[in-house]
Amino acid sequence: AAADGGCRPPSRRIIGIETEYGITCASTTGGAAPLDADHAARELFAPVIAAHRSSNVFTRGGARLYLDVGSHPEFATAECDRLADLLAQDRAGELTMADLAARANARLESAGVPGRIHLLKNNLDAEGSGFGCHENYLVHRRGDFWSDARTLVPHLVTRQILVGAGHVLPADPVTGAPARYVFSQRADQMHDAVSSATTRTRPLINTRDEPHADAELYRRMHVIVGDSNIAQGSTLLKAGAMDLLLDYLESGGNLADLELAEPMRAIRDTCHDLSGTALLERKDGRSITALDLQGEHLARVRAHAHAELDLSPLQSAVLDLWERGLEALRAQDPGAVDTELDWAAKHQLLTRYAERAGTGLDDPRVTRLALAYHDVSPEEGLRARLEAAGMLRRYLDDDVCRAAMSTPPATTRAALRGAAIGLAQDLRADLAADWVNLRLDAGSGGQEVPAIALRDPFATWDERVDKLMSALNAMRRQSADVLREAPL
Ligand code: ATP
Ligand code: MG
Ligand code: MG
Repeated sequence: AAADGGCRPPSRRIIGIETEYGITCASTTGGAAPLDADHAARELFAPVIAAHRSSNVFTRGGARLYLDVGSHPEFATAECDRLADLLAQDRAGELTMADLAARANARLESAGVPGRIHLLKNNLDAEGSGFGCHENYLVHRRGDFWSDARTLVPHLVTRQILVGAGHVLPADPVTGAPARYVFSQRADQMHDAVSSATTRTRPLINTRDEPHADAELYRRMHVIVGDSNIAQGSTLLKAGAMDLLLDYLESGGNLADLELAEPMRAIRDTCHDLSGTALLERKDGRSITALDLQGEHLARVRAHAHAELDLSPLQSAVLDLWERGLEALRAQDPGAVDTELDWAAKHQLLTRYAERAGTGLDDPRVTRLALAYHDVSPEEGLRARLEAAGMLRRYLDDDVCRAAMSTPPATTRAALRGAAIGLAQDLRADLAADWVNLRLDAGSGGQEVPAIALRDPFATWDERVDKLMSALNAMRRQSADVLREAPL
């Protein structure tokens, strides 16, 4: 945008991504799997439980690592208001899971258990049940949240042509149709979750009103449709496009004219048509292709950015990748974006392999390759090798992402949480945390410190946290004194 003084940065927004991981334990001897998913997940979390007496913890990096009922370990990134932090945090989640898996596998090996645990950043497990990747976007509380949210449904339905993770749909035994490549694992699950006639927003955006912030000022838009992404380009485009669309809506922009008549049918039709030209019926009786719908969204966001916004380099990269992603589809040339977008990278990988091997996409070797794309292990997974070979673009160095495992984003309240947790962990003090609250357990020998609610997710300084840190530091000095005065 021009530097004409009318330009502002896009409004600051908290963004967080929650990722559930798939877990399997493969036999190393070719026999039956020695652990089912539940037992594997418990083995994975054993050191977390040993250290924290809980399978639900907040980390020094400000993130949440937990194992809910069911067997899908989850990593929820700390609150980020910069896209670079979000990419680092999201990758920190993968690295955290990879480290836990490596440690679990070392224990299994030394115990003589013939199995290896694999953690998969995808959305469908071996039993065929789905699990999710949620995005969270802070928005100002306004009366018309749901009318805005409803107008974002067409975007959530069609963005898979850009940010879908790609999926091989198995052969259909009824129609005899062969296995084929589609945009998303998640779209069909969403479709199956509701009847095809419904037009509700509910399956795509969670209605639970839980802002994790001052509820008078804020809402958290909790998006529950979206694939888990491996390629940083896909994550960047997924979150960056939504951020800019929200800025557009908050500045008076309107997407209501593009609403779809049957979103849940459209999500499936879009998923299954790799040309991007599936015709989707609009509420106004006309129809539009997924490609044109995305093109129209991009055009509006671009015009808005040009008129009003001063974009960061990564935000500009979002618009650029959005454009090139659509162009690659128009030209039916996945190779044009296959280092940046998951669906294209995986498409090239799998189809080339199948061609070379002279098989179809349902060949078990292709299935294994597809799983390896999502495997977070540096040995068995492909991501690190593809990045090292320049076949997947790295937007951030791995050491920056590894640092994010223990360093919170500096510009949100996660900085306060991460610092307090880090100090408490060093001192083995019991500090209870959630997204808003910090509470030091007085039983851990410290002074009584009142519980703290951090309702402003943008605040990076808080007097109460300063006091909490002082109380913790006093504990450190006390214990040093005790040690010094202890008779030898
Ligand atoms: P569930 O796992 O049942 O969906 P949940 O949605 O409450 O639960 P968590 O797994 O605890 O979520 O993750 C919350 C996510 O929301 C995190 O990624 C966090 O960074 C992000 N977040 C926290 N506070 C806010 C906020 N005020 N606005 C937007 N996002 C937020
Ligand atoms: Mg969650
Ligand atoms: Mg959630």
